Amino acid sequence: MITIHRLPPISSPFDRQALIPGWDQERVARARVLIAGIGALGNACAADLALTGVQRFVLVDFDTIDTTNLSRTILFRRGDEGRSKVQLAAQRLGELVLDNDPHIVPLETDVVWNLGWGVYRRVDLVFGCVDSAEARAAVGAPAWAFGVPAIFGGIYGYDGGVMMQGALDGPCVACSFSRQEWADTQRRYSCDQVRRQLAEEAKIPTTQVSSAFTAALMVQENLQILHGERTHLGTRLFFAGRWPTLERFAVRRSPRCPFHQEIREVIELPDLSYRLVAGEVVERLTRLLGTGITIALGRDFLLTSRCKGCGEELPLWRPRQRVFEQDLVCDACTLVRRPPVVDPQIQTLRALSTQTDTRVLDLSFDELGTPPLHVLQVQSSQGTHWIELTGDLPHVLPGWPGNLPTR
Ligand SMILES: [Zn+2]
Ligand SMILES: [Zn+2]
Repeated sequence: MITIHRLPPISSPFDRQALIPGWDQERVARARVLIAGIGALGNACAADLALTGVQRFVLVDFDTIDTTNLSRTILFRRGDEGRSKVQLAAQRLGELVLDNDPHIVPLETDVVWNLGWGVYRRVDLVFGCVDSAEARAAVGAPAWAFGVPAIFGGIYGYDGGVMMQGALDGPCVACSFSRQEWADTQRRYSCDQVRRQLAEEAKIPTTQVSSAFTAALMVQENLQILHGERTHLGTRLFFAGRWPTLERFAVRRSPRCPFHQEIREVIELPDLSYRLVAGEVVERLTRLLGTGITIALGRDFLLTSRCKGCGEELPLWRPRQRVFEQDLVCDACTLVRRPPVVDPQIQTLRALSTQTDTRVLDLSFDELGTPPLHVLQVQSSQGTHWIELTGDLPHVLPGWPGNLPTR
């Protein structure tokens, strides 16, 4: 005999989770989440978040979909190969969001160099789903600076790890880096600290099960944080998947870690943009803060180098992240394959002032390697100021909701 249980009419897809004591659906729906990296972990986190009712996402990745991704990416399928990860993820995630007000911003860019720090100030949580230590450090630093909680995931084989980076005065993700991870931060760079032509990609052995489990732990931690539980910040979870066990460790803040720059107050200037030439910005900030200011670029701008073959001076005139190994050898030496014997003695610029070469001041911040909506560190006689290129906001995060997060 079959018994039919009659269920009351369903009013919301979230009715079951709303039964959990203390659950606050409003808070989940309001959360603004940045997901850095839309590979295996990013896909699984995004899907879990959407199904729990998160609807505001910034997705960041510069990569395209590869066949090998398809076994671990719920948002991608056969036929998607070669398409942009973030664009497609944004579209498919929009279909998963169950509320009627999804706001998903895909940013197809390199999270290490091209994501302005103003983006981090406008989210409530950061998911670090990136697969290199360099990217983890690059995501961790601004989140830490603004006191935005960040959750990092890593997978290897059947195992997974999750690190909850605390708000200010706690450890950052890099505090727990092993020697190997520190070495990994250099993987994309040569001995001269310019980009390797073909940096070897990390090929991590793993399955969908490990990424799904690790992502579920990340999202679970996120739900705790959203509900006001912050005791897990500054800890690390280790999940051994073969005979499942789960352990939590406290992460110690490392006094030698270079990523603890705290930013408490940001001056938003809607008339500044990364498209402006540097000289114009120096002038405007001089009017605002007085004479004698210096603007730190936060990245190196390379002026010249010596050819590593013949020693002739070569103009570079590009930020370090856009200079490759072969740019340090002249055409003639490349042609005859002259062995590199010369120290390139790269001339580097790290800050701008009224004294800077006018040819540099005629370049835009974009050309200097500064991303849109970035937050610039400016020194004046009164001290340090953090100035945002707020004019880029409408095109980086169009229509982005809500006020800035409170600490
Ligand atoms: Zn640290
Ligand atoms: Zn040469």
